[in-house]
Amino acid sequence: MTILRGATLIDGTGAPPVRDATIVVQDGRIESITSGAGGPPPASRDVIDASGLTVLPGLIDCHDHLASHGYELTTRWGLSEPFSTRSVRTSRVIEQTLAAGYTTVRDAGGLDAGFRTAVAEGLIKGPRLLTAIAIISPIGGIGDRVSPSGHECVVPDDPALPAGVANGVEEVRRVVRTMIRAGADVIKCATTGGASSRAGHGPSDPAFNLDEMRALVDEAHAQGRKVMCHALGGSGLRLELEAGVDSIEHGCYLDEDPELIPMMAERGTFLVPTLTVYVYHSESKAPHVRERARALREHHLNTIRRAMAAGVKVVAGTDAGGHGHPPNAMEIEYLVAAGLTPMQAIQAATGWAAECLGLEHQIGAIEKGRRADLVVVDGDPLADVRVLQSPERIRLVLKDGRVEVRR
Ligand SMILES: [Zn+2]
Repeated sequence: MTILRGATLIDGTGAPPVRDATIVVQDGRIESITSGAGGPPPASRDVIDASGLTVLPGLIDCHDHLASHGYELTTRWGLSEPFSTRSVRTSRVIEQTLAAGYTTVRDAGGLDAGFRTAVAEGLIKGPRLLTAIAIISPIGGIGDRVSPSGHECVVPDDPALPAGVANGVEEVRRVVRTMIRAGADVIKCATTGGASSRAGHGPSDPAFNLDEMRALVDEAHAQGRKVMCHALGGSGLRLELEAGVDSIEHGCYLDEDPELIPMMAERGTFLVPTLTVYVYHSESKAPHVRERARALREHHLNTIRRAMAAGVKVVAGTDAGGHGHPPNAMEIEYLVAAGLTPMQAIQAATGWAAECLGLEHQIGAIEKGRRADLVVVDGDPLADVRVLQSPERIRLVLKDGRVEVRR
């Protein structure tokens, strides 16, 4: 048993904060939550005094690339260093992410299932990991590894990270099954280009047709996997919604078609805007990337405002990896700048994020019966969400009731 007492509780549901909370953790789960005059808990070495601090549910990043370490071609293709160095680098990022208060991360491509095993076995410390393995797209899509010169990636496929290129209904089903065989918890696909994709395949250029996407979603859902779909604008956006994806990743130009955001609200489709990566791209050295990121900025912010007004759940994802691994909680700050209240932005990284992952009965809120994933921070994130970005302010992290980090 662990008893956390004295902290101000922000429970992840959007409820007002509760002062002087006492949280009892038993067998990895939250046993009880009381506040104020319940008398002091029994004296025990299991009591942790968190007076003056704030306790939140463990934070959740819904879109990360933990095994990516730069956008440069040599890095992306695995040419710049041995696999061993890269694996150790990835392990370091996973450990730092947990230490930053993130107890669950959904990886949107590039992380093989071996890292999930390594965390589960305790070989490394890390968040609870959900991985998509690799991005599925057709020839020319963002999952197709082709250089600007038109050459295909020279590095042989790693069997733990199978190729994600699929064309036609049958091949799409085959590749979805291949990802699941390799350990995918979620299926990641792309129906448009992006800001950083090759010149000629931009944010509004489509990939996949409707039949292919329906087959992809059908196969994923039949095997109990949610579908997270990269799409920025143009016909690819409508197509993924019609196909029934569970979350739209980026969605920058959703504001252009007035029917799309109401469709998302009706279907319960989540929006993962990943503002952090576009702030980075807007200063990119590559002119076509910089131009795309600056052109979409106002649409992106408008999309978030309209989505929130329509009741679409907007959740936090950094799309970290290509742009390095800055504090994941930067996304919470950007969501506030985009118009969410600090409480809503915290929900976007806790309660709503858990719903997006389909884990709303397990994590994302400090409620009796949920897994005891807790983060204790020195400061008031409702007054300034940036306190969540400083590692030294993250004083305590519990995952499944175990103390993982204590400062
Ligand atoms: Zn991504």
